[in-house]
Amino acid sequence: MGTFKLAKLTLGSLFKKPATVRYPYEKRDIPTLFPDMRGHVVNDVENCIMCGMCARVCPADALTVDRKAGNWTIDPYRCIQCSSCVHECPKKCLSMDVYNTEPTTRLTTVTMHKDMPAKPTKPVAGAAGAAGAAAKPKRELTPEQQARVEAARKAAAAKKAAKAAE
Ligand code: SF4
Ligand code: SF4
Repeated sequence: MGTFKLAKLTLGSLFKKPATVRYPYEKRDIPTLFPDMRGHVVNDVENCIMCGMCARVCPADALTVDRKAGNWTIDPYRCIQCSSCVHECPKKCLSMDVYNTEPTTRLTTVTMHKDMPAKPTKPVAGAAGAAGAAAKPKRELTPEQQARVEAARKAAAAKKAAKAAE
């Protein structure tokens, strides 16, 4: 670098605002300056379906999803802010907050809970199933349908009688 260029740079710097701030006394407006900053993962748990996709793609093993209990857990001190979970979430309920996780001496996990709807019970075979069927209201037949049923019953009875006579 030539002497002239160096002198120009040095003099220019004397009249410019410093590029740094006196942190922690001064803080920058991070959301405005760095809107795409990857600080920490947040979950809008009301939209979460506890599918576990985020936990499956997490390369740092920082996520646990317990669908039965309705718990979504993140270990923020394991997370490497890769954002894979945010991209893969089918419900788009994960996002990256611009602020980093607060430094601490006690490493803790964060659990978010959602009450999951109870699974519909499967129909029970056997006596209990028969009881369930009996509880169903009987379908009303039209007179024509009733006549057809009666005719079919009579034909079946006649067939049975003819077979017994052979
Ligand atoms: S991928 Fe999304 S919807 Fe599925 S468990 Fe994770 S946060 Fe919830
Ligand atoms: S940002 Fe990356 S490391 Fe952090 S929880 Fe999501 S997938 Fe895991």
